[in-house]
Amino acid sequence: MNERFGKTPELRTSDSVQLLDTTLRDGEQAPGVSLTPTQKADIARALDRAEVDYIEAGSACTGPGERETIKRVTSLGLDATVTSFARGVKNDVDLALDCDVDGVTLVVPASDRHVESKVGTTREDVVETTDELVAYAKDHGLWVEVIGEDGSRAAPEFLESLARASHDAGADRFCFADTVGHTSPEHTYEVVSRLSELGPTSTHTHDDLGLAMANVHASLAAGADLVHTTVNGIGERAGNVALEEVAIALDHCYDVESVKLDELYALAQKVAQATGVSLPPNKAVVGQNAFTHESGIHTDGTLKDDAMYEPYPPETVGRERRLVLGKHAGRAGVKAALDEHGVDATDEEVAAVVERVKELGDRGKRVTDADLLAFAEDVQGRERARQVELLDLTAASGGGTPTASVRLRVEGEERVASGTGSGPVDAAVKAVREALGPDADAQLDEYHVDAITGGTDAVVTVEVTMSLGDRSVSVAASHADITRASVQAMVDALDRLLAPNHTSPTPASADD
Ligand SMILES: [Zn+2]
Repeated sequence: MNERFGKTPELRTSDSVQLLDTTLRDGEQAPGVSLTPTQKADIARALDRAEVDYIEAGSACTGPGERETIKRVTSLGLDATVTSFARGVKNDVDLALDCDVDGVTLVVPASDRHVESKVGTTREDVVETTDELVAYAKDHGLWVEVIGEDGSRAAPEFLESLARASHDAGADRFCFADTVGHTSPEHTYEVVSRLSELGPTSTHTHDDLGLAMANVHASLAAGADLVHTTVNGIGERAGNVALEEVAIALDHCYDVESVKLDELYALAQKVAQATGVSLPPNKAVVGQNAFTHESGIHTDGTLKDDAMYEPYPPETVGRERRLVLGKHAGRAGVKAALDEHGVDATDEEVAAVVERVKELGDRGKRVTDADLLAFAEDVQGRERARQVELLDLTAASGGGTPTASVRLRVEGEERVASGTGSGPVDAAVKAVREALGPDADAQLDEYHVDAITGGTDAVVTVEVTMSLGDRSVSVAASHADITRASVQAMVDALDRLLAPNHTSPTPASADD
């Protein structure tokens, strides 16, 4: 895929890089994140589908609940090597063994701060314990990686003696850990170069300085060949280096395969949903805007050549390109969007629609498909009969099961239905589906809520994207009541999707 960018630079001697994903351990240590056993098993399966080499399933010493969860992951029969985090004590290795893991990441103190203040021991004792524990874990058939905790703030000579002792005792790897995300790529390069002379080396980086990714590349250039990652970069404080970013950069810049790239987006969404840590729109690879073009110049360029404003095609990572309309819209983008909805328009009509789109965009609004279609109807002087209209909605959620009832006008006929759900919005949406019957087989692809002001009297805007067959439409509705806004948006989307002649061309005018 890189031929159009010229020569692929040489990363290091080895041409294979493995990933150890620790979303289920370091990722779960992110503030406010807690995963259920089912969610962990689900994420582990998704990591395995993406062909991640190592999955750190948790930390067996945390408690019986965590051990049950790790057992659940080890019983899934995954291709990945499943590991548990273990502190440098024998009991932790035993607890990990109880969970039937394939390996342990054995964390021992490396900086004097950790050796003396946290653990209250000496460098010599740490080396001795590490030696014993590695031998013990190897005797029990485990894959063993030793992590020198706070390694980036440790004396390099001590880190080297710890690595040497680990390898001598039979460890499979030694890991350079920038535990607090404190170090520079130059320091990382220097230390990892020394460690990788001694045996297989991995790297564990945090993003406190925004250098997690740079330090990964410094590590790889210095001879490391296994990278610790988390999905979406979630983790303690500013998080870990993101799996998806490491994987795409290896592929794109160095032609090095690590995981199945087209699984990355599904994986990112699964983790965002399970953890409640939503993806920033500008996030590399998996953010909503990563393959979205709004500005007229970029849209025009992209319509001429997909690669004009993209480093790699979105399909590479399991995504699709989106062209959206807003204040920067131009004619080419508006025309393409109208084409997509089967609306023919003259150049003058397109120009008039562009003006309307820009006006709405200038007011800070996102321009939805429904807005665009309404502008086109207005400019072309077309009247359209509504297919579905919301006449009345009542919802109750105070105690007991949330219920809602709706009154709709569907093709001139009134229909009433009610529904129950996990909350009033869910109940109301079910009532709408009930009223429409099989007509409402449309899928709700996206549902997004924005509060326009920060107070409890906020007006909320609900934006939905719904699809039916190969048609898709985005609609927004605003109201002080979130249930009302949600139902209105959904009904308006269904109204567009159920229009019998969605692709009706402009009624021909005399001189057209
Ligand atoms: Zn960490």
